[in-house]
Amino acid sequence: MKYGNGRLSVTADEVDMWVLFSPDIADYVAKGKIWASPDTGKLLDYCPWLRKNPISGLHTCDIYYDRPSDCRYYPVTVQQMIQDECEMLEKNDLINPVKTQAALDKLMEDSRPSFD
Ligand code: SF4
Repeated sequence: MKYGNGRLSVTADEVDMWVLFSPDIADYVAKGKIWASPDTGKLLDYCPWLRKNPISGLHTCDIYYDRPSDCRYYPVTVQQMIQDECEMLEKNDLINPVKTQAALDKLMEDSRPSFD
């Protein structure tokens, strides 16, 4: 469930960029879907780029600067993070969800698309 099984979407333009500049990422695309096994083409249960630091326990993205737009805009709400069991959510974040949502909105303000 961790961002696998085709739950993330990717645009044709993003795939084209990976093919040109990051073929190692493009290897994990099959029939326009992510993330797929480069060997079998079958969709993976887990995102292959999600990495857990063995010391800090924090999760990071191996392709942070090349991640798909779906990831750039995620998460929108704290509720969404709870439903997805997002690793970035910490126990203290749940004490005051309104404050956490405000912090999330501030953190994501540069990432989200503008609809102006
Ligand atoms: S942000 Fe990175 S680790 Fe997380 S789902 Fe997207 S590609 Fe995978």
